[in-house]
Amino acid sequence: MNLQIKNIHSYYGNIQALKGVSLELTAGEIVTLIGGNGAGKTTTLMSISGLVPPKRGEIRFNDKPIHKLSPDKIVSQGIIQVPEGRRIFPDFSVQENLDMGAYLRNDKPQIKTDLDYIFELFPILKERRYQSGGTLSGGEQQMLAISRALMANPKLLLLDEPSLGLAPLIIQQIFKIIKKINKEQKTTIFLVEQNANLALQIANRGYVMENGLITMEDKAARLLDNEAVKRAYLGI
Ligand code: ATP
Repeated sequence: MNLQIKNIHSYYGNIQALKGVSLELTAGEIVTLIGGNGAGKTTTLMSISGLVPPKRGEIRFNDKPIHKLSPDKIVSQGIIQVPEGRRIFPDFSVQENLDMGAYLRNDKPQIKTDLDYIFELFPILKERRYQSGGTLSGGEQQMLAISRALMANPKLLLLDEPSLGLAPLIIQQIFKIIKKINKEQKTTIFLVEQNANLALQIANRGYVMENGLITMEDKAARLLDNEAVKRAYLGI
């Protein structure tokens, strides 16, 4: 797995959200993208997944261009996004939500293995598998959203603010599991977060984004130690 983003420019109508973003992800990494409100983090994910395709620039996945492909073609290559605010299907059961994650797959035995793995990661989802998604707590819904993405057998998992609106203990639990998925499944993870401190703690590398541009990139440990990052994003 490798992904290269080269100088992409992305827009909403005539509002330019990305002004020449370049970054890359290599196999097995956790890379985080941090930055303030409106910096362009979500748009970067949407550009990768084809929902806001770039007007200029290039995105290559495993050395082939993907920036002109439709979102479903991008999903079928194993690039799976967990959107901000989770967006699970509240009226469907936990199990049905998970089944939907696997809708593009036809390797039945492996789907069952993945489901067992997910229930090991999140036993609470197994307990609640016949309950409707909308009755879960915020943290459980985030677990379900991540699990639904795992059911698609991702090579690259795009996580948009998994910590949003959750209590600190739940956030820690979810971040631990993100790290575990990366380690055990070898899934490459691109993590967009406002919670820069925790995100940098589990990441190998990080990018800082401001105003539609990448302004810094480094090993996560070095960003955690960087004075400007501390002041702007770590509240130190
Ligand atoms: P946040 O953490 O607040 O989600 P972000 O870094 O993810 O911020 P984006 O959501 O990517 O930022 O937004 C980048 C820019 O694009 C902002 O100026 C935002 O106002 C604008 N934008 C985002 N979504 C839309 C939209 N649907 N229509 C118009 N402009 C948008």
